[in-house]
Amino acid sequence: MSAYRGRFAPSPTGPLHEGSLLAALASWLDARSQQGRWLLRIEDIDTPRCVPGAAQTIIAQLAACGMLADEPPLYQSQRGALYQEALDQLTTRGLAYPCGCTRQDIAHALAASGQPRERHGELVYPGTCRNGLAGRSARAWRFTSDFSTSESLENDQERAQAATDSIAENALQWHDRRLGAQSQNVSQAVGDFILKRADGLWAYQLAVVVDDAAQGVTDIVRGEDLADNTARQILLQRALGLRQPRYLHTPLVLGADGEKLSKQNGAQALDTSDPIAALDKAGRQLGLPGNPKAATAADWLQQATQQWARLHGSTAAQTTKING
Ligand code: GLU
Repeated sequence: MSAYRGRFAPSPTGPLHEGSLLAALASWLDARSQQGRWLLRIEDIDTPRCVPGAAQTIIAQLAACGMLADEPPLYQSQRGALYQEALDQLTTRGLAYPCGCTRQDIAHALAASGQPRERHGELVYPGTCRNGLAGRSARAWRFTSDFSTSESLENDQERAQAATDSIAENALQWHDRRLGAQSQNVSQAVGDFILKRADGLWAYQLAVVVDDAAQGVTDIVRGEDLADNTARQILLQRALGLRQPRYLHTPLVLGADGEKLSKQNGAQALDTSDPIAALDKAGRQLGLPGNPKAATAADWLQQATQQWARLHGSTAAQTTKING
């Protein structure tokens, strides 16, 4: 076994479909091609969207395709205390703050500023509550997005100072093993994003960062639709002094409408009655040659692991940067 630790982190909003099998398979193949461990995390924090029984169905579908996690699965719904600890740490250091704004408050503030900004249909928060709640009560908690660490910052006081000295002009840069060089200025593109929602639920960004670190994940392999979250997650890793994993975002399976395949655009539950056919289709979508004549799912996976290694090589020689 190598030090590699990968994971598949489905939200149990329904059974696996063709698109989610692709992400599961890619993360499994990457882990196995590097003699690493493969972990499962059930991302069930957005409780209104979760479907009872879906986690069990997903685990059974993965098993039918020969993919078994090396450790017991982790359930995010049971980990609120850890997310609270991380939020407290950020708040104490001046890197997170309570926000009392409603959607309407944000719209008004943006209109008044003359520079309304939107992103994927979401208003970019203008930072109203950065300097205090002005008598309102806290609804949500936000991250100070122009936070930036520098190796030269020795202590918390200096780091907190760096957070208030706006270094927003610097875009965050990182490498994606498939997409190549990436950069995003989170402060400008996204703004102060939510860590804990007004409905009391934990935000995906905080939970994913806390849990990837807690599970010792060295490599994140997931669908390209999530690539845009990476800069926010790297910023949070730096703010919390956590190790930055390597990233690889896989191609997406598109539905008939050209959008990412999802339940909303008609993705059917994955049929695992013929696991080799399901794996072979997913493998081809990942650019592998396919192994249609494999006798069992395990045989299929074994051959595909070698094919994956030829395509994506080993990351073992690369160093992982430790931040903070
Ligand atoms: N739970 C997320 C999803 O199902 C994936 C999170 C991740 O891989 O970082 O889309």
